[in-house]
Amino acid sequence: MGLFNEMEKLDYEQIILMQDKETGLKGITVIHNTTLGPALGGTRYWSYNTEEEAIADAMRLARGMTYKNAASGLSLGGGKTVIMKDPDNPVSEEALFRAFGRFVEGLNGRYITAADVGTHSQIMDYIYQETSYVVGTTLKPGTSGNPSPATAHGVYVGMKAAAKRAFGSDSLEGKRVLLEGVGSVGLSLAEKLIKEGATVIATDIYDDPKQKAKELGCEVVDSEEFLNNKADIYAPCALGATINDESIEKLKEAGVKVVAGSANNQLAEDKHGDILENEDIVYAPDYILNAGGVIQVADEFNGGYNEERNKKQVENIYNQIEKVFEIADRDNIATHDAADRFSEERIEAIQKTKRIFNQSNKSVLR
Ligand code: NAD
Repeated sequence: MGLFNEMEKLDYEQIILMQDKETGLKGITVIHNTTLGPALGGTRYWSYNTEEEAIADAMRLARGMTYKNAASGLSLGGGKTVIMKDPDNPVSEEALFRAFGRFVEGLNGRYITAADVGTHSQIMDYIYQETSYVVGTTLKPGTSGNPSPATAHGVYVGMKAAAKRAFGSDSLEGKRVLLEGVGSVGLSLAEKLIKEGATVIATDIYDDPKQKAKELGCEVVDSEEFLNNKADIYAPCALGATINDESIEKLKEAGVKVVAGSANNQLAEDKHGDILENEDIVYAPDYILNAGGVIQVADEFNGGYNEERNKKQVENIYNQIEKVFEIADRDNIATHDAADRFSEERIEAIQKTKRIFNQSNKSVLR
């Protein structure tokens, strides 16, 4: 792979490989950039075919957190951990993740972990037995709980900002929204949209979430016919890469003018962001729109989670999306590129202040 070459290309600070024979722990923590503060990013517990695949995933996700945290206005850098899951490992999750917690503690605050795919608050509680550099545990005073409602709220306000750009008004009343995936975030989003008077056409691959969506008042359709419905807005809240050559054609036919959802990595390739731009479909960049969850867990650092303060910060996503649109117009680029530029400009600006000595820089850890 030429790891140093790979690190240099996108300027990664540090990669830590962890191994513990007793617990079978094999993990990778990647710290991409700590200009803005300690690296915050979740721990993914997943089966990988190869070590290279796991390292590449951790690197990609860590860099994504640098951009997401920067765009959200947080004083946090970007990092991520991947723990390679071995289904035959007989050791308990408690032992495995306490071993991991001891490694996190060893990083002395350069990296703070949280839940991600394959981990949850119980696992964060195990980690908390060994280190305080963890958010989303149920044990710490001022803990913040399930982040999905905050994520949904951020998507909702960001969608309104995108609607304003596309339709001249941020009201979603009377709009038809295609909602893909009615899980934790999708259902909560549907509730807000219906309350504002939008029509929600929802789909999912499972019956249970579909039933819940129906009870909320959504029109529920099968996945195959989903994109054949006329709509103004497409909200991808299931998996990534759903914006591709094929789906863009369908979105055009459906009359969609806004793409705004919670899924990570919505664009199959960068070029699909450009295609949306050329087709006059407003794309609200995913990592800015879905930052409500990270904004919520990060609020734990402010002396404990505060619901009101957090709500204000999540609602600021509306302004952040507008700033991205301003950059897109200023530099004549597509919104997905403008989002990256928005994050980079903040990091660069703060980087420049570091030449001034400050012994008591107010880190979020104090
Ligand atoms: P979830 O697992 O609760 O819900 C996802 C839903 O999508 C499930 O009901 C699933 O059945 C459905 N689904 C899967 N494949 C589908 C398909 N092909 N077509 C239609 N439906 C499909 O997950 P969630 O927490 O609601 O997260 C949704 C998305 O938002 C994910 O991409 C996640 O990474 C992203 N996200 C979530 C949060 C959060 O706070 N939960 C934060 C940031 C990003």
